[in-house]
Amino acid sequence: MNERRVLTLLRKEGSLSRAEIARRLSLTRSGVTYLVDALLKQNLVNEATANAAAAPSRELGRPGVALTLNPTGHYFLGVEIGVAVVRLALVDMALEPVRTETVALPRSPDPQSAIKLIKKFLSDCQADKRFKGRVRAIGVTVPGLVRSDGFVLHLPILGWRNVNFIALAEQGFDIPISIENNANAAAFGEVYCNPKQSHDLILFLKLGNGCGGAAIINGQLLRGTSGVATEFGHMRVSDHGPQCHCGQTGCLETHVNLAALARYLNEAGLTVGNDPAEVALAMSAGDPAVKAAVQKFETYLAAGMVNLCNIFNPSDIVLGGSLRPILALCLENLRAAVARGIVPGMQSPSINLSRISQYECAIGAAAISHHAQFDTTSLSLASAATRPKV
Ligand SMILES: [Zn+2]
Repeated sequence: MNERRVLTLLRKEGSLSRAEIARRLSLTRSGVTYLVDALLKQNLVNEATANAAAAPSRELGRPGVALTLNPTGHYFLGVEIGVAVVRLALVDMALEPVRTETVALPRSPDPQSAIKLIKKFLSDCQADKRFKGRVRAIGVTVPGLVRSDGFVLHLPILGWRNVNFIALAEQGFDIPISIENNANAAAFGEVYCNPKQSHDLILFLKLGNGCGGAAIINGQLLRGTSGVATEFGHMRVSDHGPQCHCGQTGCLETHVNLAALARYLNEAGLTVGNDPAEVALAMSAGDPAVKAAVQKFETYLAAGMVNLCNIFNPSDIVLGGSLRPILALCLENLRAAVARGIVPGMQSPSINLSRISQYECAIGAAAISHHAQFDTTSLSLASAATRPKV
């Protein structure tokens, strides 16, 4: 546990001297020396000169030597199984992606073909001498309901229902594998990979083919009774619109996903595709019809965000997903609309784009594995579905 405490501190602070670690963790200097020796042997930390270190200490011995996580000591594989696509990211000990790949899949792939892809990527990584024998765990995300024990309850967007993914996958790998809802993983990654990010109450919205949601409250993912809470996309925001895959109409998701954007553009008689980057380009160029179409999207999204603010009073709302190029152009309007719409007297949250990139779910899943193996942070995922191999 003390080794993990040292690793957690180094992940958050970057680099520290042994003396500073002893002070921060209330450990004796000899205790820290013992711990650090063990961590050096396991390739988990590196020694660096203090001039390269951000916070060297002059208090106790060996002031010239600071410690950092050893980025190349161990690696974690994150996998996002999405709609017609699988994104894979290998991240190092410092949570930096070192190898990424996007592979097209049929729109409704069976779980076995996704597992086959993961095996192929892992074996390619293991063939590289930098990573051979150093990949410690795999984290997988899917766009739908995942029970706390890893059972995939409902994944209509991929055509999966009642799939015991962990049991299927476990036979093929000799390292731990876990599965998580995609928005939960992205939210976790957003906070875990950016230790300076406050996490009093963060809401995450992942906008693309669907509208996933996650909430981190006082450092913990809000899971609900069976682990499937924060399905923000199914919040009712209108009396009309296409039927949602949940069976209802008027769900936020059906008004703010890629299909909705295509609908608004069609209604405006536009032939521009619904590729977010293309739409963002047309919008930046000042095309009034595109602007009007995006404004519809923005209005619904703001309505959903106002509801979420009134319920949660969040400190931060983070927006991610494949609609990011458009979201970047909507940020100012969304901030203003939320400030206007929330209960008077309530503080407006910070509203920003996720910082991680298109691999946010894969990197988030890898971060969950990193956390399960090495970290003591209070960002709890206690009920996440992880079944380590002995
Ligand atoms: Zn719905």
